Amino acid sequence: MAAAALGCRASGIPASQGIPGNRDHAGYTNQVTPPTQGTVLRELTTHSAEETIAFGHTLAGLLSPPKLILLRGDLGAGKTTLVKGIASAFDAAAEEDVTSPTFTLVHEYRGPRVKLYHIDLYRIDTPRELDTLALDDLRSEESILLIEWGEKFRRLLRDRDLEIVLDRTGESDRNIRVSS
Ligand code: ADP
Ligand code: MG
Repeated sequence: MAAAALGCRASGIPASQGIPGNRDHAGYTNQVTPPTQGTVLRELTTHSAEETIAFGHTLAGLLSPPKLILLRGDLGAGKTTLVKGIASAFDAAAEEDVTSPTFTLVHEYRGPRVKLYHIDLYRIDTPRELDTLALDDLRSEESILLIEWGEKFRRLLRDRDLEIVLDRTGESDRNIRVSS
C-alpha cells in the first residue's frame, strides 16, 4: 500500500445525519456508534501484543503528519498497545514508556519528525468537557493525534482522517482494521 493511501480523507458522518438508537444531542454520540463506512485500507489478525506492536511499526511507516486518527475497540482490545508500536517507530517514545492516558487524558511524545499525541476520552462525557482539552491546539503540520474513545464525539468522527478498529476475537487474537 502506498503511503498516500493512508493520507486520504473520508467525509465521515454528515452532521445532520442521526445515528439510529444513539443519544445524539449537542454533538455527543454514545459509545455504541458503529464504525463508520469508509474504505478499508488494511485488515489483519494479530496473535500477540508483540504482533500488534509490530503492526504499529508498519503503520508508522505509512503515516505522515498531520493526522487525526481514531482508535476504536473495547477496553483491552489493544489500542494502547498499538500506540506503543507507532510511537517507538517514530522514535518518539520507548514501547515501555507508552502507557494509557486514562487519568492525564493526553500524553505527548516528541520524535524528530512528528509530535504524537495519545489521547483517551473514556472519561470525557460532553462536548463541553472535550472543549476544555483544546485538542485543536494540538493539531499542527507535524502532529499526529491518536485518540481512544473519540467516536463518542460527532466532531471527531467528522474530522478524523483514519480510524483503526480493534476487535478481540480470542484470548490473544485481535482483528485490526484500518479504514479511511
Ligand atoms: P486498550 O488500550 O484497547 O484498552 P491495551 O492495549 O491497554 O488495550 O491492552 C491490551 C491487552 O491485551 C494488553 O494486556 C495486551 O498484552 C493484551 N493482548 C493480548 N493479545 C494481544 C494482541 N494480539 N494485541 C494487542 N494486545 C494484546
Ligand atoms: Mg488504552
